[in-house]
Amino acid sequence: MTTIKPTSIEAQCAAKGMRMTEQRRTIARVLNDSDDHPDVEELYRRCSKIDSHISISTVYRTVKLFEDAGIIERHDFREGRARFEQASDSHHDHLINLRTGEVIEFQSEDIERLQREIARKLGYQLVDHRLELYAVPLNDEKKR
Ligand SMILES: [Zn+2]
Repeated sequence: MTTIKPTSIEAQCAAKGMRMTEQRRTIARVLNDSDDHPDVEELYRRCSKIDSHISISTVYRTVKLFEDAGIIERHDFREGRARFEQASDSHHDHLINLRTGEVIEFQSEDIERLQREIARKLGYQLVDHRLELYAVPLNDEKKR
């Protein structure tokens, strides 16, 4: 799924008055170019190809900085490692392939509506939610 990313991470950092070093810029660009919810180690691998002097602790600190600023979102897909993506205005949910760790993004109007209804019936107005589906491929199961 292609999500609309109107503002680059760099531009968002600038808008928040964040001091941008060359290494922070590199990390911002790598995050911007990632559509696959990378973890810190994967980000570090990608950044190292651009700047071999970058350290994993710099990547950790910078990711935390971006996360605290609300520019990127952290996900915990039960793998014991946090994964990140650029925060987006357009909402989507995730399906995690337990065999491969692949993350598939999806949107469902039915689910969105149902969640609002459930909250309303309980006397609440829904303001946010996270939904993660943990799944194995159908063909995979048939083979067993
Ligand atoms: Zn996502």
